Amino acid sequence: MATLIDGKKISTQIKDELKAKVEELQKQGTSVTLAVIQVGNDPASTVYVGNKKKACEYIGIKSLAYELPETTTQEELLDLVKKLNEDPEVNGILVQLPLPKHIDENLVIQTISPKKDVDGFHPQSVGALSIGQRGFVSCTPSGIIQLLKRSGIEIEGKECVIIGRSNIVGKPMALLMLRENATVTICHSRTKNLKEVAKRADILIVAIGKPRFINHEYVKEGAVVIDVGIHRDENNKLCGDVDFDDVLDKVTAITPVPGGVGPMTIAMLMNNCVESVL
Ligand code: NAP
Repeated sequence: MATLIDGKKISTQIKDELKAKVEELQKQGTSVTLAVIQVGNDPASTVYVGNKKKACEYIGIKSLAYELPETTTQEELLDLVKKLNEDPEVNGILVQLPLPKHIDENLVIQTISPKKDVDGFHPQSVGALSIGQRGFVSCTPSGIIQLLKRSGIEIEGKECVIIGRSNIVGKPMALLMLRENATVTICHSRTKNLKEVAKRADILIVAIGKPRFINHEYVKEGAVVIDVGIHRDENNKLCGDVDFDDVLDKVTAITPVPGGVGPMTIAMLMNNCVESVL
């Protein structure tokens, strides 16, 4: 019988641990402040930003909301980021993506001070991760490491196959699994014989962005499957990149969608905020 990896429960554990840490810091006179910038009013972004604010409130992190109009110029946004970089009261800066088309996302990310880059997207943070130095790590992949560790799943020496090579999930995921001493293979849209490669995995991590793409033909008997994808299907039901019902009989453990990887991303963002004052 497959184990369901409960991201909701594990993320709550992490948030409770952080809450205790923040209380301790406050007793020592240190507070934690996150600045959240949203440009425009994309409905999905508004939901994400709202969830981040709620998590801050729960943990005791102060959140400063900057809700800027769609017409904000690149220069105005960069000026705000620079001002927050200099503000000693602000520990973390998060610019909600995507940004409107007239703003260069890379330039904005590069302008955030690496000391306040709680999303872990700055090239310096990514570089530090790749050479094993201290720095902020992208939240979804670091959340997956926590899911595996806190579920007692051994990583060292395991064959790990990651499907997807995006900058925010696939690539940092590969570096983190390498840091945990897994043997890592990264697949992408040009990978030949994807089924055969995926079937080598003891731990299969799927971040492909295609609903229910991965079925039992891609999964080795006894594998652990981590599903990063999140979609609404034709019946408006949430589903992942993995066909959950189809693979369930083959796996030893799997993350459900919803309630698997999703809740971990915000928990790890909160973790990065707390780390920013340590
Ligand atoms: P992305 O930027 O679209 O990247 C998708 C990756 O999958 C690319 O590397 C692409 O290869 C690869 N790919 C696409 N089709 C493929 C195929 N047929 N065979 C093999 N590889 C294929 O997506 P992402 O940002 O990493 O996100 C992936 C999924 O995770 C999405 O559903 C997203 O909504 C979800 N997500 C969830 C969270 C969370 O908190 N739960 C966070 C982030 C993302 P190429 O590089 O060759 O194009």
